[in-house]
Amino acid sequence: MVKETKYYDILGVQPNATVDEIKKAYRKLALKLHPDKNPDNDPEQFKQLSQAYEVLSDEKKRSLYDQVGEQGLKEGAGAGGFHGSDPFDIFNMFFGGSFSNRQDNRGKNLVHQLGVSLEDLYNGAVRKLALQKNVICDKCEGRGGKQGAVSKCTTCNGSGFVTRVNQLAPGMIQQIRSHCSDCEGQGEKINAKDKCKTCDGKKIVRERKIIEVHIDKGMEDGKKITFNGEGDQEPGLEPGDIVIVLDEKEHSIFKRDKTDLHIKMPITLTETLCGFQKVIKTLDNRQLVITSLPGEIIKPGDIKCILNEGMPVYRNPLEKGRLVLHFDVKFPTKNEIRPENISKLETLLPSRSHVSIPMDAEECVLTEYDPRQSQRSNKNDIYDDDDPRVHGGPTQVNCATH
Ligand SMILES: [Zn+2]
Ligand SMILES: [Zn+2]
Repeated sequence: MVKETKYYDILGVQPNATVDEIKKAYRKLALKLHPDKNPDNDPEQFKQLSQAYEVLSDEKKRSLYDQVGEQGLKEGAGAGGFHGSDPFDIFNMFFGGSFSNRQDNRGKNLVHQLGVSLEDLYNGAVRKLALQKNVICDKCEGRGGKQGAVSKCTTCNGSGFVTRVNQLAPGMIQQIRSHCSDCEGQGEKINAKDKCKTCDGKKIVRERKIIEVHIDKGMEDGKKITFNGEGDQEPGLEPGDIVIVLDEKEHSIFKRDKTDLHIKMPITLTETLCGFQKVIKTLDNRQLVITSLPGEIIKPGDIKCILNEGMPVYRNPLEKGRLVLHFDVKFPTKNEIRPENISKLETLLPSRSHVSIPMDAEECVLTEYDPRQSQRSNKNDIYDDDDPRVHGGPTQVNCATH
């Protein structure tokens, strides 16, 4: 039992979720809630998501949280307290690789999710994706204006910051450092008439970029495909990367588990007893036929598999996993077998075992089982005690003994 489920609820997972499920939930939500993705996104929501992920993805923090809850974790049950990391650091670590400092002299990575079907991942596919990104303005070569038109801001002396001194009381001063308003913190100024018309002096322009994403056979949900140096450009910085994250869509028939594919296979009682053939359409539209010989008999819940008909192995696509069949035997429904046929059936099926019924055995009635109902078996519970109609018992007894 966990003390509270808040962090699990934020990620939309059950308290018994696996690490993989937690990672997947974070991945999907982070790409949706990141403030860059939508200006209307609430930064607080993104922060909460990061915090929930930071705790639940760490075995030690998670077990502590399960015991003491959020408040207990923050108050530091013996661990000096927990203060969440910067949500953007967590995001960058998750999507940008393992070096958390690589962003320092680079522009931002652009992370995009790409929904892919199981067919795409089975067969491989090429998808074109149109993205918006910042590029250095071609016209002014990133200067923001004509050559020589850019001069150092005299107000802030090129630093982009100004310091104002307030005297609060005699001998007591306050220093406030703020962005220089003359140059908007850029440290340099361009005369309005010399400003680059293309980028309006901003040095960068938005550009539509089409990238081709190659989805290889066997890639998995959450796979990152990186386009080095294709991210946002900024003057003076190395451009970041474009990172495409694959998001595998659920399939109506096949359920994937790494290289295994699972399907449900309903068969009838007649089929399991007398044999059957079934055709399965693969993800590359081939038809597979399976045969169960008469008398082979597949029991309800039996699982069988076809080797080498699962998902292709990534980077070794000629090798494939298993296609796993989960058999569900459909029995005939009530009254579907005519009474005169039941005795015939009995002569065909293995004979039943003899049951001897003791003299003092009590006759019982089989009723449908409903797990939500009370476990008490008191028969009187089905009557309402306040209903006078059910209190006629003694009268009937009197009549009977007359
Ligand atoms: Zn300035
Ligand atoms: Zn320009």
